[in-house]
Formats: sequence, C-alpha cells, structure tokens
Amino acid sequence: MTVDRTKLKRLPVPAFCNNPSCRTIWLAQSPFALPEGGTVFIAACQVGPCPVCKGFGRIPDGKYVRPLKRLFAPAQAIII
Ligand SMILES: [Zn+2]
Repeated sequence: MTVDRTKLKRLPVPAFCNNPSCRTIWLAQSPFALPEGGTVFIAACQVGPCPVCKGFGRIPDGKYVRPLKRLFAPAQAIII
C-alpha cells in the first residue's frame, strides 16, 4: 500500500505527567504520523515536556486511531 505523505498528520495523544507532585494531564503531539483511519499501537512510550513542570509524561498503552475527516453526514435541507 502506498501512502500520500502529504496527507499524514501527527496524532494527538493524552499524556499523564510522571512527576508525583504534578500529575498534569495534557494533549501531546505523538511522534506518529498517520493517514485518515490509520492505526498505531503504543506501549511504554513517554512524551515531554509537561506544560507545567517540564518533566516527562506517560502515554497510556493501547490502540490509537486517527478518525476519518468526516464523522457525520453533511447537513441536508429538505425543501417541501
Ligand atoms: Zn508535570
């Protein structure tokens, strides 16, 4: 399968700060660039810096999917 690299986007992922006195949760840019509908499995990954303490945070292990651009059907007007 070939992928148009111009359509890849970095997937935002939740991150939980490792610092016990901080524990901030933020949305980080993952290093993984995916096409629409693309899937990545993340395990034992950290990301930083934390926006509060500048430390590292943990990305929860699991399967991450970049949603398709259109989640809902376009609105339609019904003219009678
Ligand atoms: Zn922190």
